Amino acid sequence: MKTVSAVFAATIAASIAMPCSAFVLSGPKWPNNEVTIHYEPMLFPSTPGQPPYTMAVWNNAMSDAIDSWTQGANNLTIHKVADHAHPCAGIVGAGASVIAPEDGNRSGVAFLSTMCTESFGSGVLAINVSYSTGSHYTNSDIIFNAAVNWDIHSGPILGSSVYDFKRIAVHELGHLLGLGHETTQTAIMNPAYTDPERIAAGDLNMETPTPDDYQGINTLYGAGSEVPPLKVVLEEPHSHGATVGVGNVRGWAVAKSGIAEVEIYIDGVFWDNAPYGASRADVGAQYPTYPNANNSGFSMINNWSNYTEGPHTIVARAIDKLGNVASTSGLAMVDKFDVSYISSADLVKLSDNISSSGDTITLDNVSINGKSYRIVLKWSNATQQFDIANIINLF
Ligand SMILES: [Zn+2]
Repeated sequence: MKTVSAVFAATIAASIAMPCSAFVLSGPKWPNNEVTIHYEPMLFPSTPGQPPYTMAVWNNAMSDAIDSWTQGANNLTIHKVADHAHPCAGIVGAGASVIAPEDGNRSGVAFLSTMCTESFGSGVLAINVSYSTGSHYTNSDIIFNAAVNWDIHSGPILGSSVYDFKRIAVHELGHLLGLGHETTQTAIMNPAYTDPERIAAGDLNMETPTPDDYQGINTLYGAGSEVPPLKVVLEEPHSHGATVGVGNVRGWAVAKSGIAEVEIYIDGVFWDNAPYGASRADVGAQYPTYPNANNSGFSMINNWSNYTEGPHTIVARAIDKLGNVASTSGLAMVDKFDVSYISSADLVKLSDNISSSGDTITLDNVSINGKSYRIVLKWSNATQQFDIANIINLF
């Protein structure tokens, strides 16, 4: 079955009593709660009046539009693939030639001057064309009308002279996922972009799905867990051995909706937000359905010599893009020399009193900055090296 849904520039708002929830489902859904979108738009527009956007700007806008659905879809995985698929793939076009047969049933996006073979109707900004077998989608494409003046902007819509590509992409993606037009609630799935009554009511300034839209998706695909899964792990400092000198506070965090930030607390006091996004292929392999799990690492440097000797608690608090919070704690057993920073290796002098036993090496009478210490090194499986296990002041 083929279904075409269009978003029009303007239409008359229906006057219907407002029920609590009013999302509209088209009927079919994606099998296995998974959909793959080849999201980079083909043939991006060059109509007069366009800002000189690069291809990357259109690609990023489409990617953001997809993320806005991922954030509220508790039980649906939307895979983004950074390449093209022709929306008219397989259709017989001009001169009886088949359009982009190699793109087959891949779901794609393009700016075109026609709806493959038919002309756009009057006032149509974009369409979604879905194909389904039984209750399941097999392919769904989005075509933006290339004759329309597109740009990308936030805030109030700019009337009928120029249209925001991103929020119309969010609307068309709603169709692609299985939503129909909603006419009784404020929703990104409202059918018109510039209906005068809705502009007056401020209803059409939305840029992302509303709670009603998310409720529609979660009704279609199942609510999943009430709170989207969120996980944070602190890997350093280690709970074994001593925490000495300059070291990492590091770990990783993943969330179904994406991670907004990771806060670090030391001894119950907020220290700083940890930079987030370091490459973690191992986490990506473990959590393949979480967005950005491949880049889920966080890491900061701390000089533990500035802290008192003994235990210090570290808490990593991860906040996802829906505001959910998860935290984990670790313990740093700080051990240190009497100076907070040893500025030169010349200040460190080993004696010949070095002994070993099993996995432990003891360096006795080590002079550091004029003071004497016993330093115990112990093999660590976690770090695959000899770590400092203990520093003892010798007087
Ligand atoms: Zn629509």
